[in-house]
Amino acid sequence: MSEVEVSAAEPAGQPASVAPDYRCGFAAIVGRPNVGKSTLLNALLGRKISIVSPKPQTTRHRILGILTGPGAQVIFVDTPGLHASARRAMNRHMNRAALVSLQDADVNLFVIEALRWTDEDQHVLDELVKQGRPIIALLNKVDKAFPKERLLPFMVELQRRAEFVEVVPVSALKRSQIDALPALIARYLPQSPPHFPSDQLTDRSEQFQAAEIVREKLTLRLRQELPYGITVAIEQFKEEDGRLLVNAVIWVERSGQKAIVIGHGGEQLKEVGRSARIEMSTLFGRPVHLELWVKVKENWSDNESALRQLGYEL
Ligand code: GDP
Ligand code: MG
Repeated sequence: MSEVEVSAAEPAGQPASVAPDYRCGFAAIVGRPNVGKSTLLNALLGRKISIVSPKPQTTRHRILGILTGPGAQVIFVDTPGLHASARRAMNRHMNRAALVSLQDADVNLFVIEALRWTDEDQHVLDELVKQGRPIIALLNKVDKAFPKERLLPFMVELQRRAEFVEVVPVSALKRSQIDALPALIARYLPQSPPHFPSDQLTDRSEQFQAAEIVREKLTLRLRQELPYGITVAIEQFKEEDGRLLVNAVIWVERSGQKAIVIGHGGEQLKEVGRSARIEMSTLFGRPVHLELWVKVKENWSDNESALRQLGYEL
C-alpha cells in the first residue's frame, strides 16, 4: 500500500487522540497450501475469521483480519496457498488472490511447517524475495515437530535461503508463541493512523462468513477431491423477529456429486446444516434458521464467468 492510498483510505472523523507514532499496515500470511495460515489468523485474532480444514485449498479468498492495539493496527491478510501449477480457473483465481496480497503487503509472514521444506515452499519464497518486502518466517506446527533437536539446524539452514527479518517457531493450533507476534510484526509497519474502526475484526460480511461456514462443514465431511468441486452461495440472509433466516445453495459440478453431498436419506446434508447453524448462531450472536439446497452447475470451477457469478471476484 502506498502512502497516498493509505491516507485516502482513512475513515472520516479519525479521533484526534491517535499518537503520531501509531503504526498501521498490511501483513500478508503467505505459504503453500495446508501449512496453517488460516489457523494462524484465527489464533492471532482470538476468533474464527477464516475457515480451516485438513484439506489443502480450503481458503479461496483474500480475507482480512484486523487486530487493533493501543500502539498499532495490524491488518492481517489470509491468502489461499500459492501453488506452482494452476491449471483450473479456480486455482488461477486463488493464485491471483495470493499474489495480489503479498504484493500489497508492508510485511510478509512466510508460513512453513517446522522441520519440513518442500519445492512448493521454495516456490513461495522465490515470489516473496521478488517483492523485496521484509519477510518474517514462521515455522508453524512446532507442537508436532520431532525430534526437537533438529529445530535449530533447520532454522540455520532456512536463514541461508533468504534474508528474513525474524524467524519464529510457533504453533497456531496450540497458540504457542502467538501473543508476542503482533508487537514484533508492528515494527515493520509504517507510521499511520488506523485504517479501520477499532471494533472491526474483518472486511468480510456476515453473509460471506455464513457461506464459508457451510463450506467448511462440507469440506470436513466429504472425502478426497469432492470439496474442490463445491462452492456455497447465499440466496437469502435476513433478520426476522430477532432470528437470522439464511438460505444457501451448495453448487456442485456433476449430478453424481449431488447425491454424495445429500447422503443416504439426506443424513449428511442434515448434519452439515446442523453444525453450520450452531456455529453461525454463536458467531452472529442470535438464533439462525438455515436452509440448504444442492444444485448442479457443470464444471463451474473451470469457468471464469461462473466463478465471477459465484463471488470469486479477482
Ligand atoms: P492453510 O491451508 O495454510 O490455511 O491451513 P489451515 O489453517 O486450513 O490448516 C491446515 C491443517 O493444519 C488443519 O488441519 C489445522 O488444524 C492444522 N494446523 C494448523 N496449525 C497447526 C499447528 O500449529 N499444529 C498442528 N499440529 N496442526 C496445525
Ligand atoms: Mg487457509
